[in-house]
Order: sequence, then structure tokens, then C-alpha cells
Amino acid sequence: MDRRNFIKQSALLSIGGLLIPSTVLSACRKEILFEDVNYDGKVIIIGAGAAGLYAAYILKSKGINFEILEASANYGGRLGKLEGFANFPIDLGAEWLHGKNNILGDLITKSKTKITLDDSSLTYWFNNQLVNSLPQETDIFEGDGLPDISFKEYALQKGLGSEYAYIVENIAGDQGADASLLSVFGNNKEEENWSSGDDDFKFQETFFGFIDKQLADQVKDKIRLNTIVSKIDYSQSTIQITDSSNNVYNTDKVIITVPIPILKSGDIEFNPALPDEKTTAFSKIGMGAGMKVFLKFSNKFFNENIIGGEICAAYADESIGKAQEDIVLLAFVMGEQAEYLTSLGSDSSITNALLQELDTIYNGQASASFMSAHVQNWTTNPFVKGAYSYSTIGIGDARSIAAQSINGKLYFAGEAMNINGHHQTVHGAVETGYREVINILNDIKK
Ligand SMILES: Cc1cc2nc3c(=O)[nH]c(=O)nc-3n(C[C@H](O)[C@H](O)[C@H](O)COP(=O)(O)OP(=O)(O)OC[C@H]3O[C@@H](n4cnc5c(N)ncnc54)[C@H](O)[C@@H]3O)c2cc1C
Repeated sequence: MDRRNFIKQSALLSIGGLLIPSTVLSACRKEILFEDVNYDGKVIIIGAGAAGLYAAYILKSKGINFEILEASANYGGRLGKLEGFANFPIDLGAEWLHGKNNILGDLITKSKTKITLDDSSLTYWFNNQLVNSLPQETDIFEGDGLPDISFKEYALQKGLGSEYAYIVENIAGDQGADASLLSVFGNNKEEENWSSGDDDFKFQETFFGFIDKQLADQVKDKIRLNTIVSKIDYSQSTIQITDSSNNVYNTDKVIITVPIPILKSGDIEFNPALPDEKTTAFSKIGMGAGMKVFLKFSNKFFNENIIGGEICAAYADESIGKAQEDIVLLAFVMGEQAEYLTSLGSDSSITNALLQELDTIYNGQASASFMSAHVQNWTTNPFVKGAYSYSTIGIGDARSIAAQSINGKLYFAGEAMNINGHHQTVHGAVETGYREVINILNDIKK
């Protein structure tokens, strides 16, 4: 997602709550909160995405015995790297560091990792024309007294007519949602806690590469790949985790970091069943469809960012922030648009639909210089099933309830469990991994 687009279109943000530091986050940024702990129990982490890897990294630093069970054949979760498609490495999932004021910003500074500010310009496809600015302000989704209705409905109420439909879709898409499902009130309330900073940065060697080197490298030997957790029995003092091949793993504590659709769909059975309050909270956290399509061309005919397409509301020049400059355009497709493209079935149908839209915008130049495409559909990944979590109408305090631990045994992390307004992000996921290790350490000390 490109939060910058949302921020640029939301003038109120710079004077709003985003600049207020969160005390919880400041606590999170102090890496050493505990002296060494004496604990001879074991912690199992489910999921080797950013949250799971960071939890593991901290557990290791505390000398606590742990293991990570990961369903897929790779670690990283919604982070991934595509090599060989262009003459620079490409992020298949998370790409931008949204602000440096967070744990990852600290790690970047410490490790001297190369990142570049992305201050590329926005161009809008509006009323069948490319324009540099819109006739009406679209900064209506921030501020006080906002109603708990969808972005789509609110935009219409505020006089943004149908010509703004895909601009609004883009704003909601940044938040990983359909404009008809994202709550104006809920999204604004959660965004008020944002304390990470407004600038977006890109990694020369990919976000995945950074996490791989700084976190995964330290804990790789403890990751059990291709291990699909299907059952967690926490009815006895020792917890029994069963995978899809019926292997059983015993542990004292579990940190569950799987994406919210996995928890909602019941892919993991709990014994005893999770309390109703918890499952209701899960059901209130939204996660929509999402995909990234990389289109390689022989000719650079496009603008840096193109906002407002009917097939894809956000295109971005993928070479920004990279040392090499093969010509690659990213189609960042979210919500209903991602569902539509998924329904076309094949990668070539998806690519053709995008090329057709780009041909309309750029007078046939897309097809004329098209070379190849790579489709990364996160919705069809069985262990992710979507993009990232968003605030539904009526979300209330669902994230807090979802994040509460159970009986000093089950701990919940992952981006959707971030209650500091940093859900949807890698650093937000990392914060939850850290938080749950702190919770475990607190429980051990009791
Ligand atoms: C297209 C896209 C673009 C994005 N862009 C950005 C961006 O630019 N910047 C940003 O900060 N964030 C971005 N994000 C969001 C970011 O990627 C996520 O917030 C973050 O990576 C989530 O980390 P996590 O650890 O919570 O979950 P995940 O990374 O999803 O990790 C959960 C892990 O659990 C595993 N799992 C699932 N089920 C089971 C099971 N039954 N047993 C065992 N393991 C299981 C999964 O395989 C996965 O590895 C983007 C996401 C997407 C999809």
C-alpha cells in the first residue's frame, strides 16, 4: 500500500493526531525492557511473517526456547522478493516503509540499510483525462465528527459525484479495502494514533531483503516450513499443537500470528473453542482482496503514479528508489478491483485487462511496448487470503479484544492485532510480535 497517496489527499492529516506520539509505541521502541529471564518453558510461534520473525528475534535475545511453525514453503509471509524479472529486485508484498519513527526505522539506522525517500508525483485519470490535480478536494475522510458509514457513501454525501468513484476507490484501496466497506469513522479513529511519520521510503534491495538479513537470518534454524497448523489444544497445562500431517508439538505458550482471514475461517481449530467475544472481534476486522501486477515495458510512456483507473485505481513506477532502471509499472490492485481481476482466472487475462486500461489512458502505448508481466495475487494464497486488515463499519474495539491473550497460554500478534494505528504495515506487525513477547515475559514474572 502507498499510504502517502492517502496522506497527500488528506490535507488535515498534518495537523491531526498522526503526529501525537503513542506511549505504547515508545514503550515498544525500548528494545531491552527486561533483564535476562530464567524460563525453562517453550514458546511456539505460528507464522514466520514479520510479526513471528520479530517475536522470535526477541525471544532469542532473551535466551528463551522457541520454534516457529510456518505453513508455506518460505518465510516472510506478506513480504517476498521477485528476482530476474527486472534488473533490480522487486517486492512482491510490502514495499514501502511508512515512516521511520518506529522499531524498523531504528533497525535501518543501526544496520545502515539503504532506503530512499519516495516523493514521486501523482497524476489522476479523471473524466477520461490525465490531470495533475482534481477540481474538488478529496480530504474529507479525516477530522472530527465523522460518521460510521462507508467511504463510498460519505463521498457521495459530500458531493464527490460518480466521476470521483475510482479516486475514492484508490483512497480506500490504500487502506486495503473497497470504498463500500471501509468505515470513515473507524479508519479515522485508528489513524489518529499513527505516530510513524508521513514520509514513505523504498528499499534498494527490497523490504523482504532487509527483514531477511536483519531478522530471519538470526532465527532461520528454528523455522519449520511446510507445517500447516490445524489444531491448538490448550485444555491441559501443556499445549498441544497439531499440524495437517498429524504431527504434534508440545509447548507452554503459543504466539499466533496468522492473518485474520485464517482465524475467521476456522482453519485452525481451538480446544476449548475460543470465547464468543473473541470470534466476534475477529469477524469485525476486515481484510479484502489484493494483488500486485508488475508490467515490464520497452518504453517509459507512463507517469510516476496514476490514480483513478476503473480496472486498477493505483499504478506506480516500480523503478523509483532502485539503482537500476528497467521499465516496470506496478498495478496495485485492491478490494473489488482485485476481486474482479481474480475472477478473470488466468494471469494473461489479468495482464490483458490492465494493458487495455493503460492503452486507453496512453493511446495504445502500453500494448505497443509491453514485454512481460508477473502477477502476485495475495488473495489466492491459502495462508494469507487477502491483502491487509481494514476498519469495517462498527469495528469498535475489535482489535483490542482480538489481541487479548488467553489464560497465559495463547498470545495473538500480526498486523491486524496492532492497536496503535499501525495495522496494515510491516512495522505494525513487528510491534505486535514485540508486544506479545513482553506480555509473555510479564506473565512469566507473575
Ligand atoms: C500487496 C501488499 C502490499 C503491501 N504493502 C505494504 C507496504 O508497502 N508497507 C507496509 O508496511 N506494509 C505493506 N503491506 C502489509 C504488510 O505486508 C503486512 O502488514 C505484514 O507483512 C504482515 O505481517 P504479519 O506477520 O502480521 O503477517 P504475515 O506476513 O501474513 O505472516 C503470517 C504467516 O502465517 C502463516 N500461516 C498462515 N496460516 C498458517 C497455519 N495454519 N499454520 C502455520 N502458519 C500459517 C503464513 O504463511 C504467513 O507466513 C502490504 C501487504 C500486501 C498484501
